[in-house]
Amino acid sequence: MTEQTEAPRQEEEEQITETETPPAVPTLDEYLSKLKCGGCGHGCSLLNPRCMRGATKQSSAESEYYSLYG
Ligand SMILES: [Zn+2]
Repeated sequence: MTEQTEAPRQEEEEQITETETPPAVPTLDEYLSKLKCGGCGHGCSLLNPRCMRGATKQSSAESEYYSLYG
C-alpha cells in the first residue's frame, strides 16, 4: 500500500490595487524636520534648531508652511 499525498495547489492571485493617493500634505513638524538650518556645522533640523540661525529660519519656515498649506 502506498499513500500518495497530493499537495493541493493554491493559486495565489495577487491583486494590484491602484489607489489614488492625494498629494500628501506634510504636517508642520514634517515640513520643518526636512529643513536644515544651514547656519552651523551640525546642520540641525528646523524642527529642533540648536542655533540662532536655525531658530530664525524656523519661524520664517513656519510662516512659509502656512502660506503653502494653510
Ligand atoms: Zn544649526
